[in-house]
Amino acid sequence: MSLELLILGSNSAAFAHRRHHTAQLFKLQDQHFLIDCGEGTQLLMKKHKVRLSRIDHIFISHMHGDHYFGLIGLLSTMHLFGRQKELILVGPPGLKEIIQLQLRYSETALNFHIRFIEFTPHVSEVIYDHLKYTVTTIPMNHRVPCSGYLFKEKPKKRRINRKLLPDMELSHLQIARLKEGEDVLNENGTVKYENKVLTLDPNPSFSYAYCSDSKYKPELREIVEGVDLLYHESTFANDMKDRAEQTYHTTAEQAATFAKEAKVGKLILGHFSARYKELDIILEEARDVFSNSELAIEGTKFFVDGK
Ligand SMILES: [Zn+2]
Ligand SMILES: [Zn+2]
Repeated sequence: MSLELLILGSNSAAFAHRRHHTAQLFKLQDQHFLIDCGEGTQLLMKKHKVRLSRIDHIFISHMHGDHYFGLIGLLSTMHLFGRQKELILVGPPGLKEIIQLQLRYSETALNFHIRFIEFTPHVSEVIYDHLKYTVTTIPMNHRVPCSGYLFKEKPKKRRINRKLLPDMELSHLQIARLKEGEDVLNENGTVKYENKVLTLDPNPSFSYAYCSDSKYKPELREIVEGVDLLYHESTFANDMKDRAEQTYHTTAEQAATFAKEAKVGKLILGHFSARYKELDIILEEARDVFSNSELAIEGTKFFVDGK
């Protein structure tokens, strides 16, 4: 399995109808990312058996409380549990100052280092470049600087066809070169073993886009085009379209239109307004436009493991 998303919370503004503020646990290969950290996130992590020690990266979309009020509590608990590993904290400008201020006035010196990375508002940039994946910011249109995040695996190496290998004596270096797509050469430079004979195509690379609070912004399609999984806020249904516009939020129909035009694999709807006790209206509205739509319900896991 290559990609897994666990919904911890998915409500906007206020806790309501047993729905908590936004937080998600995203797994890519062996990496665990916490995306947004609304109030109560650490309790939800405990409830859903997420080990704090597995989290090495936290991505915060913006500075509205429903997306980060759980952060200082979570960091304090990590400290109390004796964490020593560095934590990478990505978020909007000012997040570092706020966290440091809270720590200073409680006279807390964390026993682990936080590497703060602040995104540049209103532009899309690669904010984190790992050997196996990249994270690119998605500039949302909200009342305060707000960024979504696109997690994208880099192309994988070719796979060795093990059935053909036993008869051949290949060095580690030769195998590494085969995985890179090269032929194995004789000393005189002629081809000894052809790459296309000994290797299979790489496994597919997966992607997940998290689109946080925003007014409908169709031009972001280019950034998220073709992702396997797209989370998009859908605070309101169409009955509140004007309200969505005024408060810099999106309707379910708009989110589904965005998903359809960006040709994504699956759409997950979230950030629900407390005015909707039942979410059927949100889901139906979205499915009328884009059938592969689902609700971000606490405890739900979404997987992507093949096309
Ligand atoms: Zn929000
Ligand atoms: Zn917001």
